Amino acid sequence: MSSVGQTIADLRRTVAELHGELTRYGLVMWTAGNVSARVPGEDLMVIKPSGVSYDELTAATIVVTDLHGELVEGDMSPSSDTAAHGYVYRHMPEVGGVVHTHSPYATAWAARGEPIPCVLTMMADEFGGGIPVGPFAMIGDDSIGRGIVETLRDSRSPAVLMRNHGPFTVGPDARSAVKAAVMLEDVARTVHIAHQLGKPGDIDQDDVDRLHARYQNVYGQA
Ligand SMILES: [Zn+2]
Repeated sequence: MSSVGQTIADLRRTVAELHGELTRYGLVMWTAGNVSARVPGEDLMVIKPSGVSYDELTAATIVVTDLHGELVEGDMSPSSDTAAHGYVYRHMPEVGGVVHTHSPYATAWAARGEPIPCVLTMMADEFGGGIPVGPFAMIGDDSIGRGIVETLRDSRSPAVLMRNHGPFTVGPDARSAVKAAVMLEDVARTVHIAHQLGKPGDIDQDDVDRLHARYQNVYGQA
């Protein structure tokens, strides 16, 4: 197998396994949610096939498409969100993974069209501030992808709440994008609960900046 072939085989297995995290953390219902990964150095991505249940997802069922969503390898049609994933990869070269879910608390904020304010240190750490809202966009052309890219360009956040739809998250690889989707749902739930009890307090921008810088540079194992 060529080295690109090996990379694709590895990414298909990784992306199949990462879909298990979406169900584990309660981010998806039925088949509505998908993970993709860019194939480094190629104009290709691997992504979930359309309408396949998470229990049946294996490396063999994950499909390979170009960055316009044309099927390159695999037996099934790609996810109906493939155009949005491809648009993100075409316009954000630093992104190596994209995740989309309709996780309930994040989607509730999207339904209200309200950004999640930065009221938790973990939000400053993980997202560099609040979670922005992207435009309302119809499925089927570039408008979802364009909305994601335009919103994330003006933000440090790897997550965007597409209005009346739900969250998309990005990362340098698929695992980071899945982590962002899990963390997003966690903060969306906590800030929602805080709102029921009163008005959560904002964190000063200087402190947000310091927390974000520290977390990006210092946190974790050396
Ligand atoms: Zn959706």
